[in-house]
Amino acid sequence: MNESNNKDIRTIETQVPLCVLEMNNEFDLLKEQYEDWPQSVNRVIANNALAEFRNNISCDSLRESTCAVCSGLYSCEYLSTVPVQEICLPLLETNKYFEEPFFEIDFVYGHPCIDKSGYKILFDRNGFVKRNTNDDNENPFDLRLCNNCK
Ligand SMILES: [Zn+2]
Repeated sequence: MNESNNKDIRTIETQVPLCVLEMNNEFDLLKEQYEDWPQSVNRVIANNALAEFRNNISCDSLRESTCAVCSGLYSCEYLSTVPVQEICLPLLETNKYFEEPFFEIDFVYGHPCIDKSGYKILFDRNGFVKRNTNDDNENPFDLRLCNNCK
């Protein structure tokens, strides 16, 4: 009660509105509080923030890859890599119509499981994920499949 009376008296004495006096006081307090600003940022924190920023804007997070079965483009969270042995190949056999020489489709993909199966299957070769080991002739690649085809 006393303080507000003092403010009222000061307002009357100086002919300055109360809200302006309060803003002035608040500004003076903040000026004292932050007089040692700006400060240099800790190097570790700055480097971590930069690394996080670079990861979040990298093109890898935006990259879309091809599904080997439907040829659709999907971001990596909708795709998974599956070994050819886990695929039920008879389900993917193509229509006899596409086996005609007119289409010139090469059904040999260089994977023993597919080529020896005898099934004519249409795969998108962009959906093949090469294995790192060079000497693994039994499994030269896996298939990248979207969530719909899996
Ligand atoms: Zn698919």
